Amino acid sequence: MAQSGNTVVVVQNIQMSPYPMYMKCTRCGVEVVTLAEPTVGLLTWCVSAGLCVVGCNLGCCLFPFFIYECQDIEHRCPQCRTHLGTYRRCCQ
Ligand SMILES: [Zn+2]
Repeated sequence: MAQSGNTVVVVQNIQMSPYPMYMKCTRCGVEVVTLAEPTVGLLTWCVSAGLCVVGCNLGCCLFPFFIYECQDIEHRCPQCRTHLGTYRRCCQ
């Protein structure tokens, strides 16, 4: 039998959270508490567009880009910065 090598595809089916999570880094293989970094997501644009439609176009439509609750959260390994998953406000 030929060796199949060590190409193991790990399918992580983890419910992401908007807060730092305890999970295993796919690169280091170490259990870490993830860095939760807000990033502009679909909801950010939706809220921004919504505010523009309502008439808040004097800079108000930029607020969602600074509001944590309107942004997607990217989880990264604190050691190697590998992207481990994203918590999405929309389309979970
Ligand atoms: Zn890592």
